[in-house]
Amino acid sequence: MDTRTQPVSYDLPEPLLRIGGESQPAAEGATYTSYNPSTEEIVTELSAASPADVDRAVAAARAAFENGEWSRTPAAERGKILVRIAELIERDTQTLAALEAVEMGKLFHDSVNGDIPAAASVFRHFAGWADKIGGASMALPDFGPQRRFGFTMRQPLGVVAAITPWNNPALITAWKLAPALAAGNTIVLKPAEDASLSTLKLVELFAEAGLPDGVVNVVTGIGSIAGAALAAHPDVDKVTFTGSPAVGQTIPTHVGGKFRKIVLELGGKSPQLIFDDADLASAMPWIAMGNFYHQGQVCAAGTRVLVHRSIVDEVVDGLVEAAEAANIGDPFDESSTMGTIVNKKQLDRIGGYIESGKREGATLITGGNFVGDRGYFVQPTVFMGHNDLTIAREEIFGPVATVIPFDTEQEAVALANDTRYGLNAMVYTSDLSRTHRVIADLKVGTVWVNGWGVPEPQLPWGGRDASGIGRELGFAGVEADTEEKTVHIGF
Ligand code: NAD
Repeated sequence: MDTRTQPVSYDLPEPLLRIGGESQPAAEGATYTSYNPSTEEIVTELSAASPADVDRAVAAARAAFENGEWSRTPAAERGKILVRIAELIERDTQTLAALEAVEMGKLFHDSVNGDIPAAASVFRHFAGWADKIGGASMALPDFGPQRRFGFTMRQPLGVVAAITPWNNPALITAWKLAPALAAGNTIVLKPAEDASLSTLKLVELFAEAGLPDGVVNVVTGIGSIAGAALAAHPDVDKVTFTGSPAVGQTIPTHVGGKFRKIVLELGGKSPQLIFDDADLASAMPWIAMGNFYHQGQVCAAGTRVLVHRSIVDEVVDGLVEAAEAANIGDPFDESSTMGTIVNKKQLDRIGGYIESGKREGATLITGGNFVGDRGYFVQPTVFMGHNDLTIAREEIFGPVATVIPFDTEQEAVALANDTRYGLNAMVYTSDLSRTHRVIADLKVGTVWVNGWGVPEPQLPWGGRDASGIGRELGFAGVEADTEEKTVHIGF
């Protein structure tokens, strides 16, 4: 574990767009302000891309794709550059983690020990894929007098538009870029307003690693302007978007008569199903972490805590103990176990949900208050309630758990599936047959059994229903960044 205490020294990356390998201001010099959510102080002014800037970035990505400097680089060479990127991320872990702590309040030591090494692992994993992206070959039946042979090949798509959220900026950027780059695509990336600095730093590392100019272009800016222009750009071959369902549903599947690939990684309201045969001593830290880690600002958070009625008191006591032990404070302080909420708007949104829980009759067991008079801190909060409460139906994106009792396995699964979301679910049990039954019946993209965790690069990640469409990571990530071509050869 990293044990560094503040102050951590770091340099801000140039707060400019990156287009065709050049750092440049937005058209007409437009900017927006980045704030530190722990201190409410200004961090820097970032360039706010206009639709014209987005046009230039897409043109640069298109030119870099068509000139073949990247797409026709021998695949093993592409892999080497991705390995180099992983090494540079590891070298600059402290800086990347500090930028995330400063701009969106994630605990510095959580980034140092979690997100940043995980981002490096993603680049390393897909580096290994670069020269293994192939197809299938098979003999075909004769067609009349002709003998035939068939095979498939996977080719890069072209220009990939990537739009990322603020909650795990470096890691989610890695999820989107590493497979796309391994396959030979070029990219235009639009990071979130509240978390662009670690992304800009990553792009500096890409250049240092030897990625050719124009292969990754970055348009920082306002979502409804730069994001919308990128998502609707007619010269983009794929849009990969991670963010809220409200914005995800506006991403067009076709523009100007042309269809493109779409991957949407959206929100969640995930259940944790805790059966009476669970090993609670080992489960409790995971259950708590699934609610309070990163202040609950995690798509995979398990905020619907479905508990067998016979063990409700023990689970509630465990959650209360974890909540009341939280040390909420400066993200750079190694003794902090929870940092800040990303911005004032989000803090107020969480406060609104806490009020709605009280108003609708849920029992507030602990927490429920903002903390301090500077910065956006909130107590981890536990309600006892039911699945029809607003706090149990809508994604809060804050540390607010709702404990919901059940009596039977069938009821637990029905409650788990009674949601518009379908990202992930956690199941705690020591009964192997139950484990398999419940896994089979849960309508989600991922199930974690007897623990809570993070997506791993080896396995696909994604949701269904309001949690999105398509998959990232694993071989599914490679498939999502390539077009499969089928060839019949007559002879
Ligand atoms: P958001 O939807 O507000 O923003 C996401 C990105 O979209 C940002 O870069 C934003 O600038 C951009 N954007 C905003 N309006 C746009 C528009 N009209 N057109 C195109 N782009 C636009 O989401 P957020 O608040 O940044 O992130 C939180 C959400 O992300 C939560 O719902 C969370 O569950 C989800 N999320 C999902 C995953 C996953 O893997 N499924 C991972 C992390 C976060």
